[in-house]
Formats: sequence, C-alpha cells, structure tokens
Amino acid sequence: MEGCRICGGDFFPKPLLTYDGAPRAAQGFLNVEQLVNDAAVNLKIWQCTQCGTVQHNLSPVDYYREVIRSIAFSPEMRTYRLQQLGSWLQLYALNDANILEIGSGRGEYLELLKECGAKSVEGIEYSKVSCELATDKGLKVYKGYLDHTGTSIPPGTKYQGFVTFSFMEHWPNPNASLKALSNLMSDGAIGLVEVPNFDMILQKGLYSEFTIDHIFYFDKKSLTFMLEKNGYEVLSIDVVWYNYILSAVVRKRPPLQIKHFEAVQNRVASQLRAYIERFNPKSVVVWGAGHQALAVITIAKISENIRYIVDSAPFKQEKYTPASHILIKSPDYLLEDTPEAVIVMAAGFSAEVISTLRQRYGHIQELAILGEDELEILD
Ligand SMILES: [Zn+2]
Repeated sequence: MEGCRICGGDFFPKPLLTYDGAPRAAQGFLNVEQLVNDAAVNLKIWQCTQCGTVQHNLSPVDYYREVIRSIAFSPEMRTYRLQQLGSWLQLYALNDANILEIGSGRGEYLELLKECGAKSVEGIEYSKVSCELATDKGLKVYKGYLDHTGTSIPPGTKYQGFVTFSFMEHWPNPNASLKALSNLMSDGAIGLVEVPNFDMILQKGLYSEFTIDHIFYFDKKSLTFMLEKNGYEVLSIDVVWYNYILSAVVRKRPPLQIKHFEAVQNRVASQLRAYIERFNPKSVVVWGAGHQALAVITIAKISENIRYIVDSAPFKQEKYTPASHILIKSPDYLLEDTPEAVIVMAAGFSAEVISTLRQRYGHIQELAILGEDELEILD
C-alpha cells in the first residue's frame, strides 16, 4: 500500500512506531498443529503528511469484513447504549425511519435499537454464522460488505439512518465503502459513527492498542476529514465511554437549495424589461461590461433593446460582448450621443459611476442601478 488510504497523500518518511513480531491477526487463535505455520508480521504505523490520518499499510486480516464482538453488553454499557440510541432516534426523528447497521454482528445493536423504539432496523453482516444467529432472533440482516462484492439488499432500497460501531477502523478502503454506503442512503440521511478514540491512545501512550486488525487510528480531526471528504457533514463529534470511543453524528450531504435564485432572477429580469419599455426602442445604454452585466443582459433577454454598453476599460472598447453581441463604447461617447437612460451595472463601483454620470454627463436624466437583487430607479 503506497500512501494514505483516504487522501492518497505521502506518509512521513519514518513510521510513528514499529511493532516487530506482531500477531498476524488479533483473532487468529491457534491450535497446536497451526503453531508451526504462524508467522508474525512487522506492523508499522504511519501518518499521512496531508490529511494527518494515522494508519498501517499492511494487507488487512482475512476476516476484516466481519464484525466480531467478544461479549454481550455489560449492564452499564447496556444502560448507556439504550440512553444514547434513544436520544439519537428522538433528536433526529428517526423512530419511523429505515435504519441500517453496517457490520451488525449477531444483531446486538439491532435489538437495542428496536428496544429504543426504532420501527425498521436492518443490518449488513459478512459473517454467515452471525447472519444466521441474527436471523434466528427475528432480525432482518443482509449478508455482505460495503465494497464491490456488495450486499443482498434489493436495488433501490433507501435508508434514512445508519449506525456503525467499532467497524470503520477495520476498512481497508473507506472511500469505496463510504461511497457504497451513500448509494443506500437518502439525501440528508443521519448516521451514528463510532470508532476507537486515538486521542486517548496517544495521550496515555497505550502502545498495546496497535493491532493489524485496526488499519486506522482516528482522532476527531481525521475522522471528520474522512467523513466530510466522502459526502457526510459531521453534525457533532464527541468522546464517550470513559474516553475510549469517538462518537460522531453525520448527515449525508444534501444538495444546496437554490430555488430562491430563480425568484431573484425572474424579478430582476421583469424589472429591467419594464424599465426599458418606458423609453423609445434602442435608446437605453448600460454602463458596465463585467461578468454580472453580461449575464444579466443575456438572462433577461434585453440585448436587442440595449443601444450599446459603455465601459471605462480601454481593452473592451470598440469590441462586442460575447453571446449578446452588443458594441462597447468609451464613456466619452455619451457626450456625443444622447441616450434617454443609463442603467448602471457596475457591481461595487455603481455608486462611483453614478457620481461620474451626474458630474460629467448631466444631460442624461434617467438613471437606474442594478443592485444585487433588484433594479433601483434614481430620481
Ligand atoms: Zn491522507
């Protein structure tokens, strides 16, 4: 693996640490016959120079797609989770939403979510045995993993919420997996993402926390970077459970709402047309050949009625505007010609232009300024 798995950046030249003779897999417990073939690995932990994310660059363990949880919830953890998940469902109005758990193991969290009032919860789990155990408990679980191998979720299925607990740090290609996740989510879907808190490992010098099973060691910044880069806005990110866990609430980024652009555009266009109609055909001049003026003239479809444009930039004078083909003259030409009105479209310079018009070209009585969102007619 060359470079950062998230941003493609280079690693710092030296690894943060090297752990020679590391177990080949944390879950690879051996029977006596297997001992002769057990080769340790040299685990090196690297940091990306660009996004800062800490990670190893070895091949993942062969069971990385499976979620293995060693114990059932302790009573304290269970109480904590019920409270946490209940508030999450309530805060984001997800009780009636379709919720998916990525890496649902034997359905431990699916059951908790149901207990908290979630009406529709489903899971994805790669381990066949875990899938069967969850199905036996009456849970809906699809076998699979979020990459090109896919899942058995019916095409077109969309979820409005997702959760994933202590799983993302195992993913060898998080960009691809998060993309696959996005394809299953509606715009604006809300997720709860948890990974081990690398800040605590770092602060306390917990050298034994590095394992080949965990490819990534996220802190708040790097987890946020990875999620944001892949289309998720991080709404909150907190350290929970005695500092061991980073817990982020994310939202699949919805497209910007720009419907109001259309309203402003229509209003300005009709104001411009109404103003021009007050005068004889082709007797209104526009001052300003900047990009906003050119866009407004084209969008409002007024180019036929513009006598010419004046602009103080010599390189524009005696040339024609692109697309609308209106001749550009020097402002001095206003002394020879006498248009009935001038519409100033000079953005931040409009006030200055009006002052020039009044001082030098006082014979032109009718003036208007195109503001940001409307036409201002001057007395
Ligand atoms: Zn990076």
